[in-house]
Amino acid sequence: MVIVDSTRCCYCGGCVSVCPVDALTLAETRLQVNASCIDCGECVHACPVGALQLQTETRVGAARPLRPAYDLIVVGAGPGGAVAAQTAAQAGLTVLLIEKRQEIGSPVRCAEGVGHDALVKFIAPAARWIAAEITQAEITVVAEGATRTRRAGGGHGYILERRVFDRALAERAAQAGAHVRVKTSATGLLIENGAVRGIRLESGERIEAHVVIAADGVESQVGRWAGLETQLPLKDTMVCAQYLLAGIDIDPTCTYYTISHTVAPGGYAWIFPKGSGKANVGLGLQADLPRDASALDLLNRFIESNPALACGYPVTLIAGNVPVALPPARLVTDGLMLVGDAARQVDPLTGGGIVNAMTAGQLAARVAIEAIAARDTSAKFLHRYADAWHKTLGRKMERNYRLREKFAPAQRADDAFVRAFALAVK
Ligand SMILES: Cc1cc2nc3c(=O)[nH]c(=O)nc-3n(C[C@H](O)[C@H](O)[C@H](O)COP(=O)(O)OP(=O)(O)OC[C@H]3O[C@@H](n4cnc5c(N)ncnc54)[C@H](O)[C@@H]3O)c2cc1C
Repeated sequence: MVIVDSTRCCYCGGCVSVCPVDALTLAETRLQVNASCIDCGECVHACPVGALQLQTETRVGAARPLRPAYDLIVVGAGPGGAVAAQTAAQAGLTVLLIEKRQEIGSPVRCAEGVGHDALVKFIAPAARWIAAEITQAEITVVAEGATRTRRAGGGHGYILERRVFDRALAERAAQAGAHVRVKTSATGLLIENGAVRGIRLESGERIEAHVVIAADGVESQVGRWAGLETQLPLKDTMVCAQYLLAGIDIDPTCTYYTISHTVAPGGYAWIFPKGSGKANVGLGLQADLPRDASALDLLNRFIESNPALACGYPVTLIAGNVPVALPPARLVTDGLMLVGDAARQVDPLTGGGIVNAMTAGQLAARVAIEAIAARDTSAKFLHRYADAWHKTLGRKMERNYRLREKFAPAQRADDAFVRAFALAVK
């Protein structure tokens, strides 16, 4: 019988095509071997990543083995984790950056909008990961039967290609000396006397570290394993659906926002151009508010009601949730810091979290560098990161949270809300 190592399998389907007895089936991300397998080994030879073996064979080792210990382990290679890993590796720490997916940046769960000024603090814009350059925003507010539209010029931003962007950030971390590993999932923490001392991997390996940075996104588990309270209340969750629509004719320099409780209760719909007649068209709604349809159904309605969009063809569908919450009471514990979506550091007004995660990743890595130099990785020392976050962006995020809290349940976008929203998307 052939055994599948799901931590290695990349679901390419190559094995299925060479099997003489139809013993293999590929569901989207699941390869199954059924009882008709005759142990011929054809599939084992066809597998490009060594994920298949006959039951009697021994496993081939990974190309570049992990060390038993690093100064810093970063879980999650999104923008937050990649910037943290790069910052720490540049300062000479030994760093392991792990990503559970097989391709960093994919599948994309993002509308990919980002402001120029915030972005260039981390990386110079490069054509290969920029889909469109934005100079204006149009905000339409529908409330109490009236529709108001305002255009805000003077902004400068980009719609990214996150698949390429996230990978570029991880490449920079690798160039700085970080050990980057894909298809490597953290499944637990090593905890000694209440302090985090490393991680456990799905493969069973135990890797030690002075500090762990949990940058594992909205689905974060690492913080919970460390005893931090990261559960997201439903009212602080934006439920999103988005198509990449092709074949539409819209201004490629303008982003469009529709704030309307009929379109997206407690949230908004967006159109972010990606050049060549394409745009990310999506919406996010507050999870606990009453609605008569799913986010995807509401998105379909929004598109059908808009002739400029209804002529388009969806070439990608994504779904995802955005935490629009206050950060957890504690962002750190002994030996561990939370960063990015894992720390709920998204702008509660817009759902934008790319640059926030990068900012937090950099701040956390700087504190990790100091803590390791001082041989003090206690929560008390690491709290410097929480303080730095609060001073840098945290206060603004809290203010925006209060504004959204007033707006969403009352279903009323007052002037203060719209002004703050316009500023946030500029
Ligand atoms: C529909 C939608 C639209 C959005 N639009 C925008 C936008 O236009 N602009 C904007 O700024 N933000 C936007 N966001 C938010 C933005 O995508 C996130 O805030 C940002 O990606 C956060 O970065 P991060 O590094 O914290 O986490 P992520 O980018 O989510 O990265 C976390 C990584 O950790 C990995 N991981 C998780 N668990 C483990 C584990 N156990 N072991 C190893 N790896 C693990 C995940 O696979 C993932 O790659 C949007 C989000 C959604 C859902």
